[in-house]
Parts: sequence; C-alpha cells; structure tokens
Amino acid sequence: MAIGSSTHGRGAVPAAGGTPAGIGAGAGGRVALRGDLLDFGADPAWGDVGSDAVRFRPDHWLLIEDGRIAGTQAEAPDSTWTRHDHRGRLILPGFIDTHVHSPQLDVIASYGTELLDWLEQHTFPAEIRYADAAHAEAGAALFLDALIAHGTTAAVVFPTVHKVSADALFAAGQARGMRLIAGKVLMDRHAPDGLRDDSVEQAERDCRDLIARWHGTDRLAYAVTVRFAPTSSPAQLAMAGRLCRDDPSLYMQTHLAENRTEVKWVHELFPEARSYLDVYAQAGLLHAKSVFAHGIWLDDADRAALHGAAAQIAHSPSSNLFLGSGLFDWRAAEAAGVAVSVASDVGGGTSLSMLRNCAYAYKVQAMAGQRLTAWKALHAATRGAARALGLDHEIGSLDVGCAADLCVWDWAAGPVALRRAELARDLHERTFAFMLLGDERNLVNAFVNGVSRYERGAS
Ligand SMILES: [Zn+2]
Repeated sequence: MAIGSSTHGRGAVPAAGGTPAGIGAGAGGRVALRGDLLDFGADPAWGDVGSDAVRFRPDHWLLIEDGRIAGTQAEAPDSTWTRHDHRGRLILPGFIDTHVHSPQLDVIASYGTELLDWLEQHTFPAEIRYADAAHAEAGAALFLDALIAHGTTAAVVFPTVHKVSADALFAAGQARGMRLIAGKVLMDRHAPDGLRDDSVEQAERDCRDLIARWHGTDRLAYAVTVRFAPTSSPAQLAMAGRLCRDDPSLYMQTHLAENRTEVKWVHELFPEARSYLDVYAQAGLLHAKSVFAHGIWLDDADRAALHGAAAQIAHSPSSNLFLGSGLFDWRAAEAAGVAVSVASDVGGGTSLSMLRNCAYAYKVQAMAGQRLTAWKALHAATRGAARALGLDHEIGSLDVGCAADLCVWDWAAGPVALRRAELARDLHERTFAFMLLGDERNLVNAFVNGVSRYERGAS
C-alpha cells in the first residue's frame, strides 16, 4: 500500500508520464487559488512569535500562469482564470526535504537498533535490491508520489550505490516536473557485497555519466553523494572532492556526526583529521553546496567551519529520536550563523511529513530548554532551505516568478485540532497548532511546477 493513500480514502493523482487528473497551470494555463497565503520574506529571528518576516495574506488569490506564480491579490480574478475556491484553507510553498533516502521506505519503522546496526540489519539489505532496474523504477515512483502526497515538492535525495537507482530517481523526478537534487551513492568499503563500488575509476565514470545526463536537465541537479566517511576509502573521498572542484555548480550531500559510536569510528579511521567534519573538509567536500545531514556531535570549530563555507545542516529530528542518535543544538548552529534546514531522513526518520518533522524539531529544542517558533521551523522547511541551496529565486516562497510548487492545507483536521484552532488567539498560536497537530491528512492539493500532482480524494 502506498504511503498516504487508501488508509484515509485518498489517493495520489497518477503523475508519472501521464496527464494529471487534477487541475494544471503548465504551459499556457492560468489558474487562481483562493485561500490564506502564508510564506516568509526574510529569516525569522529566534524566539520571535511576532516576526515581521512572516507574510500572511488571509483570503487572497494566488495566480499561477505557465507553471509560475504570477501574482497575489485580494479581489477575484476575471473568468479568464480557472478559479479554485479554497477559502478558509492555508496555502503554503511546497515543503523542501533536504535529506531523505528513496529506497528506505521499505525499512521505515524498523524496530530496535541504533545507526550502525540499523544500516547493517535493515537498510543495506533493502538497498541491495535497487541493483535491479525495474525495482529501482517502481521504488522511485512510489517514493516521489509519497513525498508529494505529504506536501513535499522538492527534495535532496539519496538513492543507492547503483547507477540504475540514480537514473530511475532522476527520470521519475523529471516526469513529475520536480526540483530534485540527487546522486549515486558512493561506497567502496565497510558495506556488504552488492553495495560497493568496484573501483574508484568505475565510481567516477558512473558519476560523470550521471552528471552529464541529469545535472541541469529540467529541474534536476546532481549531488556528489558520499554515504558517510566510514564507507568511502580516502581515494574515493578524494575523487568526490575532485568532482566538486571540477564543477562548482554540483551539490554535495553526506552524513555528519550523527551517532557517538559512528563519530568514534571516524576518529579511528581518520586519525589525522581534527574532527569528523575535517575529514570532509580535507577531501574538498565542505563548500557552499554541501548538505550535511544531522551534525549533532559538533564543536564550535566545526560550526565555524560550516559557517565559513556557507554549508548547511539538514536537521533530521524524527530520525535522531527514533535511532537514539542525540539532540541537535539548533540554537548553537544559529548562533554560529550556520544555515539549518529540516529533513525527514526517512527511513531513519519515521514520517515523510515535514509538519511532523517540524513538530519533532520543536520537541528536540524543548529538551534543551529552547523554544522553536512555528515561524523558524516552517521557514527552515521552505524559504530557508531554498536559500541554503541557492534556489530561493525558484522555490520556497510565494514570490512572483517562483515555480508554482505549493500546497493547499486544511488548517485543522479532526475534532481536537478543529477545537484548538478555534481557540487560537493569534496567528502564531494557530500556525503552531497546525504544525504540531497536522500531517499529511491535512493536505488538500499539491502543485508541482503549476501542475496538480496530488488531490485529496482523487482516485
Ligand atoms: Zn540519512
């Protein structure tokens, strides 16, 4: 059963390669959506519930033309626009999940392990199956439809070590018109048979082929994808660094300082490095296009290096709690000027819903006596992530000219959330309750590049 599908009597709009069943504003289309528009014009300050960075336009029309946001207005547009009245509903930019593993839907919610055992017992066996092209293709379709059905319209994704898995993911992203950043996973040691690159040369050839085919094609971009330092030889890490140096427009994604046993292992494997982050820095993998998942066990020097390089941390709170990895210090990252985005890290994470992950992020900060506002969290899942990826001209907001990647949400679903919303005294309180109590069941309609790719209740 597809995640987010028939359990609630809803199905995702069939998307790949076909005509979407919902409304569209692709080439030549003019669509207007009425609802409460909420996005961010700047970075909300820590702890500021009355932030000026919030742009709230209640009961407005959002105009979509040729797949892009063409404007917003209070009055209804004329009848040359296909109008959809969602008054009383919330319209947000589509969420951006900055760290998630497409093959790991198969192991989400697996009992009883921490990171290294979890990889060995659950994840690696699931990933081995992606050597098969048909399996990889079906998995990519299931994964991307599930993402969209959770309100996520752009993502930074790990497929597997197999070239075919990256090809399948990119092709499925292209068919859905998605902004997708991904790359073949690099691993050449400390991984089972069937999940290791044969040689540095073969891995480099695969990467260069995939870059030539997909990087900059439609809305796709390539990320040099190192699983994590322990599963790449120093020679492979150096090759990954060369790829980044040869083309500075490439992204880089990897894991960083997730779990204490892992950190200790990295120190043993790379005794010459000052820290875990330093392993990547020495290989040329710390730069403005780097996305580091987790970053829990860092020190001030690491945070200063991340800030200096303008790299970002993809905070993955549901994964960090589920695998018992640790509590990310968002406030310290903020104080050091490090960009923080929010990520699901499924299948270590337990939900693709960015609302649930923002709710987990609030609770993780609460454990440290900090308060994460709804503004800070939702900004990190939209405009903040876009800016850290250098894509804020395209995604993450409702700005005119941005791609129409956006979602229509019910403010509340079910009697408890409805009651709570009724009693909210101000916008932050209402939005915070939406974030804490909401999930994919609140999603009404998701647009990707102006095309409806998910419609609640559509079969
Ligand atoms: Zn991960």
